[in-house]
Amino acid sequence: MRKIIVGMAIVFAIFGGIMAFLERPERTDVVVIGAGASGISAAIEARQAGLSVVLLEKMPRIGGNSQRATGGMNAVNSAVQENDGLGDSENLYLADTLAAGHFQNDRVLAKLLVEKSGEAIDWLIGLGADLTDLGRLAGHRVDRTHRPSGGAPVGSEVIRVLGEQLVQLGIHLRVENKVIQLLYEDNRVTGVLVRNEEGREYEIMADAVVIASGGFGGSPERFVFYNPDLKGFKTTNHAGATGDYIDLVADLPIELIDMEKIQAHPTVEPHFGILITEAIRGNGGILINVEGNRFTDEMAFRDILSEEMRQQPQGGNFLIFDESIRNGLSAADAYIDMHLVKEAESIDEMAQVLGIDSAILTRTIERYNGFVAGGSDEDYQRMDLPVQLTAPFYAILVQPGVHYCMGGLPINENAQVLDRDGVPIQGLFACGEATGGIHGNNRLGGNSMTDSIVFGRIAGQSVAGVKK
Ligand SMILES: Cc1cc2nc3c(=O)[nH]c(=O)nc-3n(C[C@H](O)[C@H](O)[C@H](O)COP(=O)(O)OP(=O)(O)OC[C@H]3O[C@@H](n4cnc5c(N)ncnc54)[C@H](O)[C@@H]3O)c2cc1C
Repeated sequence: MRKIIVGMAIVFAIFGGIMAFLERPERTDVVVIGAGASGISAAIEARQAGLSVVLLEKMPRIGGNSQRATGGMNAVNSAVQENDGLGDSENLYLADTLAAGHFQNDRVLAKLLVEKSGEAIDWLIGLGADLTDLGRLAGHRVDRTHRPSGGAPVGSEVIRVLGEQLVQLGIHLRVENKVIQLLYEDNRVTGVLVRNEEGREYEIMADAVVIASGGFGGSPERFVFYNPDLKGFKTTNHAGATGDYIDLVADLPIELIDMEKIQAHPTVEPHFGILITEAIRGNGGILINVEGNRFTDEMAFRDILSEEMRQQPQGGNFLIFDESIRNGLSAADAYIDMHLVKEAESIDEMAQVLGIDSAILTRTIERYNGFVAGGSDEDYQRMDLPVQLTAPFYAILVQPGVHYCMGGLPINENAQVLDRDGVPIQGLFACGEATGGIHGNNRLGGNSMTDSIVFGRIAGQSVAGVKK
C-alpha cells in the first residue's frame, strides 16, 4: 500500500512538473507590437542580428496605416535622387522639415531622420521595392518624394516587400493577437500580456519590447479628447489606429508629448473619408472654393491650408486637375474607379457639373494658366507651377480630415523610450507614429514613411545592441 502511495505521488509530481513547464510563459528575445512599416522594419533588423522575434498584430492583416500611404516617402541622397541634379541637400531637407513643424521639432531626431533617409530608400529598393518615381509634396522646395513608377501608392509597395522579408527570415508573426498590457518589474519592461483571436490571454517574456502600434487618428473619441477642435472631423486612418500605447504605458513613469498636435490633411473626400493624395496638387492640381475662386497657395503647409479651407464659404472645396496630371499618377485613376471624381470636357461643362458660375471658373483657370506661363503666381506665390490646366478637367470635393498624430512616446536617438526624467526605460523601445517630437507642430508630407523605416530600423538595431 505504501509503495502504491509513493508511486502515485511520483506520478503526480512528474505530471505537475510537466504542466508547470507547459504553462510557463513563452520566452523570446524581442516582442514587437504592431506590424506596420515601423514594426516590421524593427523586426527585420532584430532578426537579422540573430535575435528571436515575435511580431504581434491585433488586426487580421499586416500593414496598418502604412498600407494606406499614397503620396510617397521622402529622402535626400538616395540612389534614385542623388544623380538627379536637383540641388537637394541634407540641410535643405532638414530646413523644410523644421519649417513645416514650425520649429517645434526635436532637432536631434529630425536630423537623424534626414541623415538616414537616403539609406532607408536604398534598403527598401534592395529588398525589391520600386521607388523610382520622384515627385514633390506640399512644403518641399525640391523633388524628393519617392514612389513607385507611374506615381503609384507607396504604402502597399513598401508593405509588400517588408511582408516578403518576414516570410524569408522566418519571423514569428501572429495576427489577431492584441497586446493588452506591458509587464513591468523592478523598473524594466519584461514582456507583454496578449489576447489572442479566441480571447485567451497569455504572457510572453522578452528582453526587449518595441512599441510600433501607430497613432490614434482612427479613434474620434481619442482625437477629440486631445484636441476638441476636431469634433465632427472624418478620419483617413484605419480602424486599428486607436492609440493603444496610451493605455499600455499608463502605469509607467512616462509623460506622453505633443498629444494635442494632430494633423488634419487638407484634401479628404468627405463622404467616404478617403484621402486624396497631395501628389495631385504636387503635379499641378489647384484648389477652388464653391464659388469657383482660388484662395491659397495649394502647396502651403498642411495645417495652414486646412485652416484656410475651413474658412471658405460652406467649408467645401474642389480639387481641380487635368488629363496630364491624371496620366502621371495612377492614384488618380483609382479615385475615378471609386466614383469620387467629376469629369468634364470644358470649363463651361465643369462649372455646370459643380454648380459654379462659368465666368468665374473660366477667369480662375485662365488666370492660373497665365501664372504658369509667366513662371510666377502673382496671387498666392505658389513656388512650383508644373502645368497649365487644359481640357478635359477633373474635380473632387475635398475637406480637411484627421490624418496624423505628431505626439506620442518620447524617445531618444536609439529609439529607447524615456521616462519623465529623460532616462531610458530598460527594455522598452518605440518607433513610428506611436512616438512624438520628430515632426513638431505639423508633419511634412512624405516624412512619416521615412520616420517609420528609419526609426523602425534603429529600434531593431538598438535592441540587438542591448542584447549583446
Ligand atoms: C490614408 C493615408 C495616407 C498616407 N500617406 C502617406 C504618405 O504618402 N507618405 C507618408 O510618409 N505617410 C503617409 N501616411 C502616414 C503613414 O502611413 C503612417 O503614419 C505610418 O505609416 C505609420 O506607420 P507605423 O508603423 O507607425 O503605424 P501603422 O502602419 O499604423 O502600424 C501600426 C500597427 O500596429 C497595430 N496595433 C495597434 N495596437 C496594437 C496592439 N495593442 N497590439 C498589436 N498590434 C497593434 C495596428 O493594427 C497597425 O497594424 C498616410 C496615412 C494615411 C492614413
